[in-house]
Amino acid sequence: MKNIVYVKNVTTLKLNTDKCTGCRMCINVCPHAVFILENKKAVITNKDRCMECGACSLNCPANALSVRSGVGCAAGIIQSALKQKKSPLSVEI
Ligand code: SF4
Ligand code: SF4
Repeated sequence: MKNIVYVKNVTTLKLNTDKCTGCRMCINVCPHAVFILENKKAVITNKDRCMECGACSLNCPANALSVRSGVGCAAGIIQSALKQKKSPLSVEI
């Protein structure tokens, strides 16, 4: 699970390092190892691993994280389908 990468460059995950207290909660709850701790602050290692589950944002006691659950992935899938001139809801038979 830790090496899974989702749709590239679409995640809405944001980290405000100034607010981060280094409590490690995001590291503990993230199922895809998106964060590490460096110099007592959380750091995003690879944004594209984020599946926008929202667990980090919900559990961050310093309100240093924000993510809009499912938005980036959904937008990426729709944009990708539009580039291919296909409806994202179409089914090929
Ligand atoms: S949960 Fe929030 S305060 Fe704690 S390390 Fe992560 S970003 Fe920093
Ligand atoms: S939203 Fe979920 S997958 Fe993305 S960084 Fe937060 S805990 Fe990890």
